[in-house]
Amino acid sequence: MSDVSMLWTGLDYERSGKQSDYLRLPHSSDLSAYGWIPIPLVVIANGTGPTLLLTAGTHGDEYEGQIALNRLARELQPEEVNGRVIIMPALNFPAVMAGRRVSPLDEGNLNRLFPGDPKMGPTAAIAHYVDRVLFPKCDLVIDLHSGGRSLDYLPLALAHPGSSDDHREKVMALLDAFGAPFSVLTDGSGGGGHTTLYAAAAKRGIPALTTELGGGATLSPRGLAIAETGVRRVLKHFGIAPGLDVDDTSSTRLMRSLGREAAIYAPEGGLFEPNADLGEMVTAGDLAGRIHFPDSPMRDPVELHFSTSGMISCRRFPTLTQRGDCLFNVMTDAE
Ligand code: CA
Repeated sequence: MSDVSMLWTGLDYERSGKQSDYLRLPHSSDLSAYGWIPIPLVVIANGTGPTLLLTAGTHGDEYEGQIALNRLARELQPEEVNGRVIIMPALNFPAVMAGRRVSPLDEGNLNRLFPGDPKMGPTAAIAHYVDRVLFPKCDLVIDLHSGGRSLDYLPLALAHPGSSDDHREKVMALLDAFGAPFSVLTDGSGGGGHTTLYAAAAKRGIPALTTELGGGATLSPRGLAIAETGVRRVLKHFGIAPGLDVDDTSSTRLMRSLGREAAIYAPEGGLFEPNADLGEMVTAGDLAGRIHFPDSPMRDPVELHFSTSGMISCRRFPTLTQRGDCLFNVMTDAE
C-alpha cells in the first residue's frame, strides 16, 4: 500500500479551464487532529497539447520562482493554452511560510527526499505525491530554485543529461527554450544527487530542468526576470501557449558542472573571506579565500586554493562557516 498517496485535492486535473485549489497534506497535530496543510495548486488546461509541471518553493527561502509562478497563475488564461499547466508555487508550503529551506514540521528537505515515501513524514509524502501522481501526467518539468540562505548563485538552469541520446536531445531542447544565461549539465554530485525533484523526473524519462537564480534568501530582480521569461519561452516553444508575447531567441551558454571534486569546502570553522566572485574565471592554484579564527586572533588564517580551473557558479553567502560547508562550486564550458 506504500504507493497510495495520503494527499488529495478537490481539483480535477482532467477539467478544462483555470482551477485554483489546494493539495491537502494530512497533518495530525495537538490543535488539528484531522487537519490538512494547504499546498497551493493551480491548473490551467485547454485542448490536447503537452502538460508542463511548474514548481517553486521546494526550498522555502528561495523566492524568484515563487513570485514568478504566482504571477503566471494569475496572468495565464485557459484560452491561451493548448495543453495543461500545473502550477505549484509553494511546493513545501510549511517551509515557505517559515522562510526556511527545510520544513519546520519534520526538518525535511523536499529536494533530498525524492522519490518520496508516504510513511516518512510530511515532506517525503509531498515528494511521493509529485513522483507517483503528478509525474505520470507530465511531459515537461521545471522546478525553480535559487541559492537560499546559505548560497549565492549565478543565474543558471541545470539538467541531468539523461541516459539515452533521445532523452539528452529533449533536455537540450528544454534548456535552449528556457534560455537562462548559463545551462549546466550535471549528475547532481555535490548537490542532491538522485534525490532531487528534477532527477526523479529525469529518471522517469521526463525532460526536466531546475534553476538557480540568485541567493542569500532575498529576491534578485534579474533572477525573477529570467524565471518569468524562461517559463513563458518554454510554454511558447512547446506549443502549450503558442501565442505568448515573449522573445524566443536563445543565447544560453552550455556548461558542465565539475562536481564535488572541484568544489571548495571549509576545512574547519571560522570566518570565510572569499577571494573570487560569481562568474569569475579561476585557474587551478588560485587563492579561493581564507578562513579566519575569531577565537584565536594571533592564528594565521587558513588559505584555500582552487584545485581546478573554471568559472565560479556559486559561493557561500554567510561569513560564519563550519567545517564541511560548501564555499565555492566551479563549472566549465561543455565540450
Ligand atoms: Ca535550492
